[in-house]
Parts: sequence; C-alpha cells; structure tokens
Amino acid sequence: MSHVFHRHLSHAYPTAVGGDGAYLIDAEGRRYLDACGGAAVSCLGHSDAEVIEAVREQVGQLAYAHSAFFTTEPMEALADFLIERAPEGLSSVYFVSGGSEAVEAALKLARQYVIERGEPERRHLIARRQSYHGNTLGALATGGNAWRRRQFEPLLVEVSHVSPCYAYRGQAEGETPEAYGERLARELEDEIQRLGSETVMAFVAEPVVGATLGAVPAVPGYFRRVREICDRHGILLILDEVMCGMGRTGSLFAAEQEGVAPDLVTIAKGLGAGYQPIGATLVSERIRSAIAEGSGFFQHGHTYIGHATACAAALAAQRAIESRDLLPRVRQLGDGLQRRLEARFGDHPRVGDIRGRGLFRGLELVADRETRAPFDPERQLHAAIKRTAMDHGLMCYPMGGTLDGRRGDHILLAPPFILEDGQLDEIVDKLDATLRSVLGPC
Ligand code: PMP
Repeated sequence: MSHVFHRHLSHAYPTAVGGDGAYLIDAEGRRYLDACGGAAVSCLGHSDAEVIEAVREQVGQLAYAHSAFFTTEPMEALADFLIERAPEGLSSVYFVSGGSEAVEAALKLARQYVIERGEPERRHLIARRQSYHGNTLGALATGGNAWRRRQFEPLLVEVSHVSPCYAYRGQAEGETPEAYGERLARELEDEIQRLGSETVMAFVAEPVVGATLGAVPAVPGYFRRVREICDRHGILLILDEVMCGMGRTGSLFAAEQEGVAPDLVTIAKGLGAGYQPIGATLVSERIRSAIAEGSGFFQHGHTYIGHATACAAALAAQRAIESRDLLPRVRQLGDGLQRRLEARFGDHPRVGDIRGRGLFRGLELVADRETRAPFDPERQLHAAIKRTAMDHGLMCYPMGGTLDGRRGDHILLAPPFILEDGQLDEIVDKLDATLRSVLGPC
C-alpha cells in the first residue's frame, strides 16, 4: 500500500517516470500526450534542456538563501523581467511557492494597504460565483466554487459573490455582449452599494475563468467597466492570473487583452513551467509605496519566498518563451485548436460550447444542446472522461457540473506552447475517441 496521502484515497495512479516534450511517460512505458499541462502548468513540455540546465546551474551555485537574510540574483532578475513586461502601474513582485499562496498574499496586501491608508473599515471582498482562487482558507473563501467550499463552511473570511461573466449561460437571448457586460457591471455596483462602498476592500476575478468554468473569457468591455466602478468607489482590483497568465491566452498577462491596469495580479503555474514550484503577486506602485511609507514592512512571509532555484527556473522558462517567440505561436496554435475542435465537435449533440483564448480552450458538455441542460452531476462524467482519456494516452482536465445546475461538465485543454501542428490533430482524435467511449457514438 502507498504511504502517500493521495487526494483520492482509493485511486491507483500510474507512476510518472519521465517526460519527452509534450508527452509524459509512465513506469510501464506508456506515453500520454499532455493536453492540459497538468493543470495549465507545463507550458514548455517536460524535457526543456535550457530550463533543466538553468536549474542544474543554480543548484550547483546556490540552491536557497532565506529571504529574511538575503536577496539573490535570480530573484532580482526575475522581478525585473516581470515588471518590465507587466501591465501599467505594477512595480514590484512578491514571490511565493504557488497559486494559493499568491492569492493569500494579494488579500493580505490589500488589507494592509487599506489599514495603512487609514481605512480599516474596508474589509469586504467581492468575488464571483463559479470561480476558483485556491484551496488555502482565505483563497477558498474568496472562490465561488460551491463544491470545493461546501464542507468547510462557514469560512473564515466573508466574501460576497456576484455573477461570473459567462456568456454561454448568462447572456440573455437578444442581449448584446456589451449589454450583458453592462448588466454584470451594474450587479457589481449594486453589491458594492448594498455592502456600503466605504466597507469594500477589493474585487477579485480571473480574466479568463479556468478550473471552474473551463476557459471562459469575459465579454468585451466588461473588465474596463469593472475597473471604472472599482476606481469610483476606491476599491482595489485583484486579477487572478494563476491559470490564465504567463502567455497561456496568447499575451504574457491576460489583463493586456482587457486593457485594464489591475492593482494586484497573481501568477503561478506557467511561471515556473512545472520545473520548480513558484508563484508571485505583482503589486502596484500605489500599494507598494503606501506600505513603504507606512509601516515599511509587509506583515506576511513564508520560508521559501523567492527560492533561488525556483526563480532561476522561472527566469529560464520565461526567457525561453520570449527568445523562441512562442506567444505568436500560442495564438496561432490556439486558433488551430479552436478550428479543429469546432470541425470535430461543432455539431456534437453533447457539446454545448467550445471557447477560450490562445492555448486555453474549453468544451462544455450538456445533456441537451437545445435547452443547455447539464448532465446530472451524480453521473461523475468528469471522472470517467479523465480515466478514459488516459486509457487513450491523453491528459485533459475535465471538471464536473454543480448540483445547482448553474453550469455543465467541461473539459479544459491547456497544452504546451511547443506543440507541433500534428499534435493538435492527435489531441482532437484522442478526445473524440474518449468521448465516443464515454458518451457512446453520436
Ligand atoms: N487561482 C487560480 C485561478 C487557479 O486556477 C488555481 C489552481 N488551479 C489557484 C489559484 C491555486 O493555485 P495552486 O493550486 O498553485 O495553489
């Protein structure tokens, strides 16, 4: 028996022993095309020689130095790299080990900022339903994923949730995307007014919703309206780009495509491309200087802040993406993937929507295309799809519907940026075979 406390205690997992570009290899020698990058992590595949060499070199020189005593060259260089390319107004980077930690840091930075400004009554957070911001308690409280929250309620941090920007299910018939975005912005403003705008600290959202909805971008103009509302009421805008950032949607930051300047941005996953665990919170100059000129000390911290080897891996990964000009390739491959998915599944009676940006794509599965009725979540379709896809040598990231029926099952695709065109066909063929096995011939 395994002594590892696996998340699914009764599952027998294959043992991954190696990687070869876009493929993972198990102990039996089976190859799996990694069409989801694990969870949108492995953007350079699994055997990138440059990143591996950078890790090797850094471990040989200095593996780790505690950030309470030292800064390090890779940490400084990575912060410079990110800020030189970040949306306007962001001026410093707080390094952590993953996405949930990045969100926790963003929440605490927001809280310390309003306190240092003499607005301690600003303690409310607003986020969106059907969102995911991490599994630690503050991040879990922020997210609006009922399935993940349910067992732990009441959660420590009180958060109000407004509707996500989810056109497939939220946009009314005859309503334009602009009018839909405007309606959602008004809902946010109503919630701010209901809470008392002087008590609201921040609004948190993923620019492209990943794990909970399956690659759902906002309608045009939505985030600009959100930014205006936040500004009008002195509320911070926190964008969670843990999944959709670092080139995944075709621009380094997803916020660039929305034309907004956030106050805090969280990143992780693709930052280290899976070669090392690392996350970060990018901080606006307004917040940095308020804390610098106030107490001068951020009351937070973890042992592995700015881990030298993790920073070296992330720097090598990000430099590789830039020097190999992979972002235009992400956009091109993403369009190619969308076209192939539409050609293969566009008329599929169980595929309701195919969406996304760049190499971040989602298929929503429905029991009935006309009514958009989701499958019964008790059917655990996502588990069957994941298992069957692996039998077909494919890794994809399916998620289940919710018991309240406000969304369906979906399959998230987030393959590596180094994919070859033929591998797009391989993904679609293997997905087709998987859906035929699970749903029957259509
Ligand atoms: N935010 C978002 C948007 C995420 O997708 C995730 C992970 N799926 C997290 C936060 C949490 O990241 P981690 O699992 O690295 O803690």
